[in-house]
Amino acid sequence: MSETRYDAIVVGGGHNGLTASFYLARAGMKTLVLERREIVGGACVTEEIAPGCRASTASYIASMLRPEVIRDLELERHGLRMVPCEPGLQVAFEDGTVLPWWTDHRRTVAEWAAVSETDARTFDRVDARLKELARYLQPFFLEQPPDVHARGWAKVREGRRVYRRMRRIKGDEITDLVEFLTGSLGAFLDRHFESEKIKRMYLANNVYGMHAPPYRPGTAIGLLFHLLSGGDDDVQGWFGHVIGGMGSITQAMAEAAREAGVEIRTDAPVAKILTTDGRACGVALEDGTEIAASVVASNADPKRTFLGLVDPADLPDGFLGSVEAIKMDGPCAKVNMVLSEAPRWNGMPAEADLNRRSFATLVPTLEAAERMYDIAKWGEIPDDLWVDCVVASNVDPTLAPAGTHVMTCFVQYVPYRLREGTWDDQRELLGKRVVDIIGRYAPNAPGSIDAMEVLTPLDLERRFGLTEGNIFHGDLNIQQLFFMRPVPGWSDYRTPIEGLYLCGAGVHPGGGVTGAPGYTSAHKILRDRKRARR
Ligand SMILES: Cc1cc2nc3c(=O)[nH]c(=O)nc-3n(C[C@H](O)[C@H](O)[C@H](O)COP(=O)(O)OP(=O)(O)OC[C@H]3O[C@@H](n4cnc5c(N)ncnc54)[C@H](O)[C@@H]3O)c2cc1C
Repeated sequence: MSETRYDAIVVGGGHNGLTASFYLARAGMKTLVLERREIVGGACVTEEIAPGCRASTASYIASMLRPEVIRDLELERHGLRMVPCEPGLQVAFEDGTVLPWWTDHRRTVAEWAAVSETDARTFDRVDARLKELARYLQPFFLEQPPDVHARGWAKVREGRRVYRRMRRIKGDEITDLVEFLTGSLGAFLDRHFESEKIKRMYLANNVYGMHAPPYRPGTAIGLLFHLLSGGDDDVQGWFGHVIGGMGSITQAMAEAAREAGVEIRTDAPVAKILTTDGRACGVALEDGTEIAASVVASNADPKRTFLGLVDPADLPDGFLGSVEAIKMDGPCAKVNMVLSEAPRWNGMPAEADLNRRSFATLVPTLEAAERMYDIAKWGEIPDDLWVDCVVASNVDPTLAPAGTHVMTCFVQYVPYRLREGTWDDQRELLGKRVVDIIGRYAPNAPGSIDAMEVLTPLDLERRFGLTEGNIFHGDLNIQQLFFMRPVPGWSDYRTPIEGLYLCGAGVHPGGGVTGAPGYTSAHKILRDRKRARR
């Protein structure tokens, strides 16, 4: 047993673990972060992919990073710089045109009117409505979800809290909200829009990373999630490039945490969460070292935590079954490239600046996405894929030497479990398909690839510790959100083991680089500690 005893140990140095550790240390708790990899950051890192060339190897765009977290951790003082993506989204089509979604609403309406005047008018109305509705959900983003199991006075308090948040909501807003929480994105788009291109703009933005095709009930929720605000200025639907790659966020967070007194150890994989009398009392590392702490907060996903680090005898009947049932089955891959010249996207206007040239989403039609999902669902790699390309070096010269370019490509839908063969055999095929698809939209790109890394769902699991390669620590479907996340009955960051908490994307409000689960879980720990002292 290590001689030093901590008030809190955080298992995992992802951005949520670092955020949680900061708040715990700031409140005076002696806090230790243990990260299995050689770097902190989890899926929010910058890594070298070829000599002298660095890329955001997993997450690649900042969108919902909470302003509270940016402010409290003083991330800017610790070196964080973000540049708004302009446009926030841009789709390239097979007919050699590109269509941007500007942050300036009027500019988007004007540009979309050239595709369909009716749809541009509808966009004006629908966007305003979605933004209003998203504002009702916004406060829950940094609070624990409503406790539907509360009893007695606690139940009254929960009822009041929800009432305060929703008291201004009107009847027709409730019906719309129900539609967005339960309906399908495809049905919504077909009902409101006529142009296939405009529908594809929405598709590109909304089932990102989800294990669902666009016509699956529940997928319309992405329309609201995407409008939760983020960035320094708390803007709805904000997107930003991070200078130095996404790892600059977690490097700044680590600096803030250290300054608050947190000790961070890398290359320190935790093998077991230790308990005495059903209470967490520390951890054992893979090398056998045991470290004592009064509180353990796990930034590892719920499956990794409960199926890998905890003794099943410490868990109540049925709990493990609920954890095993969490839908993970990651449907995404990532391909990171070094290019000798920037891609020249078909249809990109000659006057487009570098920021605009850094974005091209190659998104299928709704029907093609549905078919693609079906193929992947049965364990096959679709011929056609949905590829989101970001040439970050266009706006960030720190990533690669002058004249060299870095492009990251997020890929959807691929299976985690292949029907035949293994991902180690199929990795090259996936890379080839992605390159062929990009070549259709930027013919110069395939011939300019100097280096490429293909991260299949299995590689995401192996490298980043994401169970089944799920980028959100559990699919973001309605059955796994709010008070259902991570499992029904345990959505308040506590676990059946006293003193053990979850602080990563597997808990409310879920995945993405937000800092929200880290913020909220740390505040829960601090409240419990205060109560225990009283
Ligand atoms: C390919 C990809 C693309 C994405 N794109 C975006 C994007 O553009 N924008 C966005 O907002 N989000 C994106 N995401 C999602 C986002 O990155 C994640 O949801 C988020 O980073 C999760 O943060 P976290 O801190 O909760 O967990 P993680 O980042 O997963 O961190 C968990 C940490 O725990 C460590 N760990 C696990 N087990 C142990 C153990 N036993 N001992 C010690 N350490 C352990 C892991 O190594 C890891 O560092 C993407 C994710 C991926 C993978």
